[in-house]
Amino acid sequence: MRDIFKCKVYKITLDAGFSCPNRDGTISGRGCIFCDTGGSFSRAHPSSLPIEDQLAKGVSRLKSRFGAQKFIAYFQAYTNTYAPVEKLKQLYDRGVSHPDVVGLSIGTRPDCVDEEKLRLIASYTGDYLVWVEYGLQSAHNKTLSLINRGHSFEDFAGAVELSRKLGINTCAHVIIGLPGETRDDMLQTARTLADIGVNGVKIHLLCVLRDTELENLYNAGKIRILSVEEYVSTVCDFLELLPPSVSIHRLAGNGLKELLVAPKWLDEKFKVLNMIDRELEKRDSGQGRFFPEFNNNKAFLS
Ligand code: SF4
Repeated sequence: MRDIFKCKVYKITLDAGFSCPNRDGTISGRGCIFCDTGGSFSRAHPSSLPIEDQLAKGVSRLKSRFGAQKFIAYFQAYTNTYAPVEKLKQLYDRGVSHPDVVGLSIGTRPDCVDEEKLRLIASYTGDYLVWVEYGLQSAHNKTLSLINRGHSFEDFAGAVELSRKLGINTCAHVIIGLPGETRDDMLQTARTLADIGVNGVKIHLLCVLRDTELENLYNAGKIRILSVEEYVSTVCDFLELLPPSVSIHRLAGNGLKELLVAPKWLDEKFKVLNMIDRELEKRDSGQGRFFPEFNNNKAFLS
């Protein structure tokens, strides 16, 4: 962001009032087993506010707290392409209406885009930095079924391909520690993302939030949550497999404190980030270390 815009750029999370086909009964009425009732919204400000007010609040908070100067309007809550194209255009136009907004980022499901919607999103690329963030979570269909995603890996691959053709940056959301997955399964997801050529990856830990199906499984002793050491070491392995050109949008999720059931260590996110830094230093390693075309090139350490 600093290279492109020469200043601090922060994301403002928005809730534009969308729903999700995996919650409203179109795909299933259950939702993903980890999803809370806010549809993964950060709740940085009340979601009931008009988009313009959410933007104004975000701008003022991030300017005073972090010295941010420019902003990316991030349509985060639920499925932000789940409406007719005309409605989407109105909402996205409102998202970029603030003069300090330089980017547009849209979080969605890979089975909820088509060429018409992606062409609309691509129409913003002339004036804004544009990303579509696809919830994937795992490259393994058996896991996607277990966590009730309601889409397949192939849906994701198709959406990424079409987005790329239209010049849109793509980011994949993944979760480390999903039930039934071995460490090798998780690392295979990293290799698959490297092969498929996404531009960004957002890494989350599987965390248990209140009033989710996952909470019931956790309380029944049917799932295990990773320790902080296991998480840190798996994230470092994951990073080593991703190409150096992939931007890492997140290294650990923010479990909303009031909803977080487990793990409690996620409350100290900065400690986790520092541990990731230290682990990579200890390994004398970094992102891309084991990405095949990057082997033997130490430039990533600079
Ligand atoms: S697709 Fe997203 S909003 Fe919908 S249930 Fe899953 S996590 Fe929640």
